[in-house]
Amino acid sequence: MERLSVVLIAHDRCKEEMAQWASFNRGTLAQCTLFATATTGQTVLKHLDLPITLLLSGPMGGDAQVGALIAERRIDVVFFFWDPLTPQPHDVDVKMLLRLAVLHDIPIACNRRSADLLISSPLFSDVGYHRAEGNAALLR
Ligand code: PGA
Repeated sequence: MERLSVVLIAHDRCKEEMAQWASFNRGTLAQCTLFATATTGQTVLKHLDLPITLLLSGPMGGDAQVGALIAERRIDVVFFFWDPLTPQPHDVDVKMLLRLAVLHDIPIACNRRSADLLISSPLFSDVGYHRAEGNAALLR
């Protein structure tokens, strides 16, 4: 069975919340192929014994890696708990990631309630829905 490719990213002040959220949703996430930026992944792994492919740390290019994976259509869903109150040295990479997710019509939840709604959607586990051609109006 095909698995969804899911990315977890959280800025520093949001990492514990991401780890708690991921633990709560362990059953669903266990059905997915998981990626995370390095420090987020390490934090989540302290709470959760699931395989996670660790990318670079966000400020070192991890967000840019996620952006590239999105552009290559290798990511289905992104959970990105970004911090709206703290300036980030890699702000341009964050913007790039957010832009590419919207451009490629990739579901992206940027706070916990959005993440709750996304992961509990009946469409979440429907790989065909995520991979359907031509669902990005901006790309037409
Ligand atoms: P980190 O990167 O998981 O390595 O902290 C996340 C980010 O800052 O975008």
